Amino acid sequence: MEYRQLGKTDLNVSILGYGASPLGNEFGEIEVAEGQRAVDFAIDHGINYFDVAPYYGRTLAEERLGAALEGKRDKIVLATKCCRYDFDGFDFSAKRVEESIDESLQRLKTDYVDLYQIHDIEFGDRRQVIEEAIPAARKVQQSGKARYVGITGLPLKMLRDVAAEVPVDAILSYARYNLMITDLDDILRPFAVENGIGLINASPLHLRLLTEKGPPEWHSAPDDIKEAGAKVVELCKSRGVSVSDVAMRFCYEYQHAASTLVGMSKQRHVEQNLRVLGTENDAELLAEIAELVAPVKDRIWGTGRVENQD
Ligand code: NAD
Repeated sequence: MEYRQLGKTDLNVSILGYGASPLGNEFGEIEVAEGQRAVDFAIDHGINYFDVAPYYGRTLAEERLGAALEGKRDKIVLATKCCRYDFDGFDFSAKRVEESIDESLQRLKTDYVDLYQIHDIEFGDRRQVIEEAIPAARKVQQSGKARYVGITGLPLKMLRDVAAEVPVDAILSYARYNLMITDLDDILRPFAVENGIGLINASPLHLRLLTEKGPPEWHSAPDDIKEAGAKVVELCKSRGVSVSDVAMRFCYEYQHAASTLVGMSKQRHVEQNLRVLGTENDAELLAEIAELVAPVKDRIWGTGRVENQD
């Protein structure tokens, strides 16, 4: 396993990171024992970066991850979040940020997290995120309950502009660098690199669009993006290669992201995503994929408050 430093922090994270949202049934009901096996297998094979949030499964993912990590906490770098608690349930107040950590620590069965992130900042009032939520997360850091502070979300410009006003240690961006889209590299990467902010690239499978199973019901991409994704899946199938393998390789190769965070709840997915490490994509196939994706390349959907969207 290759590890990369997360920005200027002392956290060295595996380039394959474990996204725990599926442990909260976000992609359908899971078998809990299988989720535990997936976590065990990941840790035994060098995956040390784990990302979760109270929102995933409305606290279920934190609870299940906490149970799965018993006795193994010291082997991993653990990131959780605050401020998002339901589909439409947000609270970016300082009070909630300071309370939320204790609830998360209890569920995760630990006394600190390595990274405490303000979740989906585009749903918040920009001034409140800057003036309340992030400073409150810094207070949590000073208390020793979190080692570093980060922000997460979809709109890249807001992530960049907020971090320019109030320093953060890491930024998690999702669905902005994978086979369908690479604008993370244009909009956020220059700022992050210049300022030593760690970058985490989440959703390398474009929230399951780039898998044979296809996107979940709730996937927000418009139809033409979904159709282009389906064509990529078909092309890979016709060449006898796994689309998820191609998609994972594409992200592992992106050196500016410390970790590629993929959601997993099955041991076989952990095995498969590990197997791809250190292997190379076929350049001709990548060129064909780029052609299929071209009509929708770098297109994204809107989330959050209108004024916060890219
Ligand atoms: P993803 O693109 O990682 O897709 C996950 C889905 O793909 C799951 O259904 C999983 O079972 C499936 N999968 C994984 N490996 C596979 C394989 N080899 N073959 C076939 N299917 C496979 O999307 P995601 O889970 O949303 O993103 C990854 C993680 O990043 C999340 O779990 C979460 O921790 C984090 N994330 C954070 C935010 C945020 O903070 N705003 C947003 C999105 C994601």
